[in-house]
Amino acid sequence: MASAGLIAHAAVHPERIEVITGPMFSGKSEELIRRLKRAQIARRRVACFKPDLDVRYHRNAIASHSAQTLEAVTVANVEELKAVLMPTIEKVEVVGIDEAQFFNGSLVSLANELVGLGRRVILAGLDTTFAGEPFAPIPDLMAIADEVTKLSAVCMQCGATAVHTQRLGSDQSLVLVGAAGVYEARCRACFQPWVDEHAAEQLELPVGARAEEPSATKA
Ligand code: ADP
Ligand code: MG
Ligand code: ZN
Repeated sequence: MASAGLIAHAAVHPERIEVITGPMFSGKSEELIRRLKRAQIARRRVACFKPDLDVRYHRNAIASHSAQTLEAVTVANVEELKAVLMPTIEKVEVVGIDEAQFFNGSLVSLANELVGLGRRVILAGLDTTFAGEPFAPIPDLMAIADEVTKLSAVCMQCGATAVHTQRLGSDQSLVLVGAAGVYEARCRACFQPWVDEHAAEQLELPVGARAEEPSATKA
């Protein structure tokens, strides 16, 4: 039988790392917003962040394709996230981060640090790139998580379960965050990653554009 002390500990220190992942349109942001709103209903103090590459719809909120929103702070990289969060960490119990794939590997250390401080950390992000390759640092976050939720979308070609994000058209701009008509969810059979080398180079963010590379902000 669990002692009252143990139960009280679980209520006060809900330390855990949760990762919500899958292709675009799979409902990652919706699920993140759902969990954070429930935490707020339970009177947990929530802080939510997103990278400044994602300024779709709202600059001061995370948003889903189904128009759900939740207030969030936009940061350039993990360093800035820490600079905003740490001075107020005593007042924060749950930390939510959307579009986590746009941060660098130091997000993994930050997640470990926060869980070490007894916080609940919920991270949402793409598991694969438009080439179908693992999208760092999500794989490492999945490895250290207490719980991983892998969502799927609906294939826009055939209606089957979609696990891939298809980039459409010939626009080769480096970063097109969520631009309408530029991406769609595809099943394995309908997914067509670019094979041409020039296009493949542009499937991932260039090093300087990745939200957590210090050079991107300090240059
Ligand atoms: P993500 O953050 O994973 O990109 P969102 O949470 O922003 O996803 O949006 C999920 C919502 O997108 C769904 O609830 C649905 O309303 C809408 N949607 C649009 N296209 C699709 C699709 N192909 N498959 C599933 N949902 C889709
Ligand atoms: Mg999203
Ligand atoms: Zn399909």
